[in-house]
Amino acid sequence: MLQNVLSTASQVLSSVPELARYQFNCEANNQPSQLVVSIGAIADIKAVLALASSHANSKNAFAVHPISTGRNWGYSSAKANSATAVILDLAKLNNIQCEDAKLGIFTVQPGVTQQDLRCYLNQHQLKFMVPVTGAGPGCSILGNALERGYGITPYTDHFAAVNSIRGYLADGTLFRSAVAELDQSQHDLLDKTYKYGVGPYLDGLWTQSNLAIVTEISLRLKAEPEAFSAFYLQFATEYQFEQAQQIVFDILQKLEGVVGSVNIMDQRRVAAMLATNPNGAAAHQVMTEQQVASIAKTYDIPAWTIAGTLYGQKAVVKAAKHEVKRFAGKQCSKMVFSDSWLINTARTVLQWLPKTMLSAQRKMLNSLDAGINIMSGHPNQVALPLAYWRNPRLAVTKDQTLHPAADGCGLLWYAPLITMNSADMRRFIGHIRAVCPKYGIEPMITFTSLKHDTVDSTIPIVFNLADAAAVAQAKACLEELVSEGLKQGWVPYRLNLAQQASLLDPTLPFWQISAKIKQALDPHNIISPGRYQP
Ligand SMILES: Cc1cc2nc3c(=O)[nH]c(=O)nc-3n(C[C@H](O)[C@H](O)[C@H](O)COP(=O)(O)OP(=O)(O)OC[C@H]3O[C@@H](n4cnc5c(N)ncnc54)[C@H](O)[C@@H]3O)c2cc1C
Repeated sequence: MLQNVLSTASQVLSSVPELARYQFNCEANNQPSQLVVSIGAIADIKAVLALASSHANSKNAFAVHPISTGRNWGYSSAKANSATAVILDLAKLNNIQCEDAKLGIFTVQPGVTQQDLRCYLNQHQLKFMVPVTGAGPGCSILGNALERGYGITPYTDHFAAVNSIRGYLADGTLFRSAVAELDQSQHDLLDKTYKYGVGPYLDGLWTQSNLAIVTEISLRLKAEPEAFSAFYLQFATEYQFEQAQQIVFDILQKLEGVVGSVNIMDQRRVAAMLATNPNGAAAHQVMTEQQVASIAKTYDIPAWTIAGTLYGQKAVVKAAKHEVKRFAGKQCSKMVFSDSWLINTARTVLQWLPKTMLSAQRKMLNSLDAGINIMSGHPNQVALPLAYWRNPRLAVTKDQTLHPAADGCGLLWYAPLITMNSADMRRFIGHIRAVCPKYGIEPMITFTSLKHDTVDSTIPIVFNLADAAAVAQAKACLEELVSEGLKQGWVPYRLNLAQQASLLDPTLPFWQISAKIKQALDPHNIISPGRYQP
């Protein structure tokens, strides 16, 4: 039935080997995906939707679930909320259009990955930054923006940088904004440069929702700055968190526009980025204080690390560096800037020494360089090994292409929003350190500042996916983190599939309004049933 309405560019995948890569997931989701359509032409999306509409209420009724690259690791991977939904894999739609090279406006289809965009910009010698994330080169720009994900470069909030969204409603209507509809010129550019359009702002409806299949987004890319300096501030003792937090607040509030996102990480989180798991990856066991201290000594990891980046004209970055030094003053035990003589000298020295010497320092410097690279808009895998902390199946090596779901990593994210208030954040630290170890989960803390007033803490719940008891513990851990956290006012900004089903109350006004919109736009519940739809 499906194959008959598709062009030759698209294929129905239904055999076990064809479906295998859609079954892998990090969230221990055992519901098998049954049918996938790999879409190779935009017109085929409309054809599938028309078929679904014409069979609604019949015994052949079916729903669809679009994915862009399906690497939503830790939230859903490539899975749909409903196991019977046909997955529409849009990864083959990977066109990039430079709308205006001077303004930095680009249109990308769902399959365009961070790496695709990087290659395109390099190839066309366009000096812009890719909105990278820790999820690495193979992830979709569009998929991440629709999840309202955020990243590391100056345009941290990826949906905020999206000016225009186009796609199909369930009834096949092709939507675009009122500005695009009013524009009588032949350019179709204005809409792609202005986010809010005219009249009700509808584009937000297409994110974290199940109301449309998006075929393209137009986004603003940040021009490569003249100067760039990543900074790392170390705080030796645990009780200095409050000082570190105040410094981050000052940097974000006073250097807005010059500074990208700023992270505060605890010792265990940095240790997991640099060292291998001392308990072995199969063990469902938290590191002892002694183990952490030993790793910290080898890699010079303090109690708290601040990592951030300054971007701009040379003189501006120079002045901003001066301000960072002034804010941090004598409070931090170490302060390093990526363009400092110290780092450059270390690079030169290590280049000349045999590879076997100073291996911990070499690893730190490589990791630092990879971090600097990603902050400058060049996607890489530097953040991905974290997902392998408890994966006994695969020891990560430098040149491997990583895919946490296919490689069998167990990962669930706890990603609550917290107000930028040190007392609240300190209570949150206590929450993580009390709950995670109870379930054998390593408590690793990162605060990513979205603005000077809000932080998002991304807590990775990493577990051995092959160990059923560990899976149960990980799920119970997340459950307690969320339920106890909500009582404190820490609400996740993004949910995994199980949480979308269990946490949201359909009787509350917000979800009732949302249901009315769904009923109006997709009365047969064809697109992604259950996605943020209690
Ligand atoms: C170690 C690690 C680090 C990570 N770091 C980050 C990070 O820094 N920031 C971050 O945001 N995330 C991060 N992630 C989480 C996640 O992997 C990324 O957000 C990733 O970009 C999402 O997957 P994707 O781009 O393939 O989107 P997809 O999986 O393709 O899409 C996500 C969801 O959006 C919807 N969707 C996708 N395409 C469409 C469409 N065309 N129309 C309608 N709906 C659609 C679907 O419901 C889909 O399930 C990280 C994960 C790991 C393991």
